[in-house]
Amino acid sequence: MKAFLQRLRNISIKKKLYFIVGTMAVLIAIELFVLWFAINTLSAVRACVGAEGLWSKAQKDGVYYLGKYARTHDEADYAAFLNFMKVPLGDHKTRMELIKPEPDFDIARQGFKEGRIHPNDIDGMIGLLRNFHNIYYIAKALEYWTNGDSLVVTQLIPLGQKIHAEIIEKSNPSETLTMLINELDPVNARLTEQEDNFSFILGEGSRWLERIILKILLSVALTVEITGLLLSVSVSRGITRGLNEINRATLKIKKGDLSERALVFSADEIGQVAMAMNQMTGQLVKSNKELAQFAYITSHDLQEPLRTITNYADLFKRNYAGKLDKNGDKYLDSLSNATLRMQQLIKGVLDYSRIGHDKKLQLTDCNAVVQEVLHDMSALVKETHTTVQVGNLPDIMAFFELHSMFRNLISNAIKFRKTGTPIIIHIEAQELPNEWLFSVKDNGIGIEPQYFERIFTIFQRLHSQKEYAGAGIGLAHCLKIAELHGGKIWVESESGKGSDFYFTISKNITI
Ligand code: ADP
Repeated sequence: MKAFLQRLRNISIKKKLYFIVGTMAVLIAIELFVLWFAINTLSAVRACVGAEGLWSKAQKDGVYYLGKYARTHDEADYAAFLNFMKVPLGDHKTRMELIKPEPDFDIARQGFKEGRIHPNDIDGMIGLLRNFHNIYYIAKALEYWTNGDSLVVTQLIPLGQKIHAEIIEKSNPSETLTMLINELDPVNARLTEQEDNFSFILGEGSRWLERIILKILLSVALTVEITGLLLSVSVSRGITRGLNEINRATLKIKKGDLSERALVFSADEIGQVAMAMNQMTGQLVKSNKELAQFAYITSHDLQEPLRTITNYADLFKRNYAGKLDKNGDKYLDSLSNATLRMQQLIKGVLDYSRIGHDKKLQLTDCNAVVQEVLHDMSALVKETHTTVQVGNLPDIMAFFELHSMFRNLISNAIKFRKTGTPIIIHIEAQELPNEWLFSVKDNGIGIEPQYFERIFTIFQRLHSQKEYAGAGIGLAHCLKIAELHGGKIWVESESGKGSDFYFTISKNITI
C-alpha cells in the first residue's frame, strides 16, 4: 500500500491534473448520459400515456358511431366507426410486430403513425416497449394493451361488421340487430376497464422510474462532487506539502544555514525542484569552502613578499630620508603608507577567512570579554574621553571570535563619533526564548537607512580614507561572527543621531 501511494505521489503534477480533469469529465459525461436517458425514457412513457388517450378516445367515438349507425342506418356513421378503429388497429399492428424476434421497424413505425401518434414520439415509444418489456410496469401495461387489442380485434370490430351486415341485409329492424346492439355495451365496458388499468399501471411505472432516475442522478452528482473534492484535496495537499518544505528550507538557507536540505517527498516536478535545490546548496557549500580556502591561501602567501617590500621601504627610509630631494621623501612616505595599508587589508582578509576555523565553543563571560577589549583599547578610550556603560552581560556558550565582534563595534562607535559631542557607548544584553540579543549603541554620526545592509558587505565603506581611516572589513567580520553563532546582525540608526547595532547569539549553536 505504502509503495503504491509513493508511486502515485511520483506521478508528475501535469499528469495528476490531467487525471483529475479526465475523471471529472468522464463522471460528468456519465451524469449527462443518465440525464439524457432519463428525459428520453420519461418522455416515451408520457407518449405512451398520450397514445392510450388517443386509443381510448377512438374506441369511445367508434362505439358511439356504431351505436348511432345501428339507429340511423346511415352509411356515413359506419364509415366513421371504421375510421376510428384505424387507431387501435394501427397500435395493434405495431405491438404484433414488436413481439417478433426480429421486428420490421418500418412496419412498427407505420402502425403507430396510423394510431395517430406524433412522429417525434414514435421511436422513443418503440425503444421503451422493446428494451423495457421485462420491467414489471411495462410488462403489465403490455398485458392490458394486449387484452384491449384482442377485445377490439375479436369482438368490437366483428360486432360492427355483424351490425353492418344485418342492416344491409334487412331493411327493417330485426331482433338480431337488437341483440347485437345489446352486446355493444358490455364490450365497451370491458374495453374501458383495460384502458383504466393501462393508464394506471403506466402512471405507477413513470412515478417509479422518476424515483429511480432521481436516485441515480443524485448518486452520480454526489460521486462527481466527492471524487472531485478528494482528488483535488489530495493532489493540492501533496503540492502544498512539497512547496512548504522547499519554502522552509529556502528560508533557513537564506538565513545562512547552508547545511539545511529540503525533504523530498516525491519524484514529481516539486520533488525535482527540491532535489535540484539541495544539489545547488551542496555546490554552494563546496564553492564557499573553495573560495574561503582561496582567500586564505592568497592572503597568506601575499604577506611574505609584502613583508619584504615593507622591510626594504623601511630600510630605504632609514638610510636615505633627508638625503633625497623633496619629492623623493614624499614618494618614500607614500610607499610606506601604501604598504602599511596593504598589510592591514591582507591581514583583514586573512582574519576574515579564518573566522570559525578553530571552532572552539566555550562558556564565555561576556562582561569579561568586553572588559578585555576595553582594556586593549584603553589608550584610545582615554584619548577620546569615551564613556562606555556596560549592562549586566550573561555567561554564554560562544566562540573566541566574540572578542572581535565587540572590538569592531566599539572601535567603530569611537571612530564614527560626532565632533563636539562626548562619546557615550551603551552595551547591553537581553535574554529571548532561543537566543541572546546584544546591543552596542553610540551617539555618533549615524547612518542613512539606505546603507543599513550595504555596510555589512566586505570592503564597503561610506567615507573616504581621509575622513575616516579603515579597510571596510570590520562589519563584514561581525556578520560572519554572528552567523557563526547561529544569529543575525543589523543596525538601527538615523543620520546624525547615533547608531544602535544589534546582534543575536543562538542558545543552541551547532558546530
Ligand atoms: P570601516 O570601519 O573600516 O570603514 P566597517 O566594516 O567597520 O569598516 O564599517 C563599514 C562602514 O559602516 C563604515 O565605513 C561606516 O561608514 C559605517 N559605520 C560602521 N559603524 C558605524 C557607526 N558606529 N556609526 C556610523 N557609521 C558606521
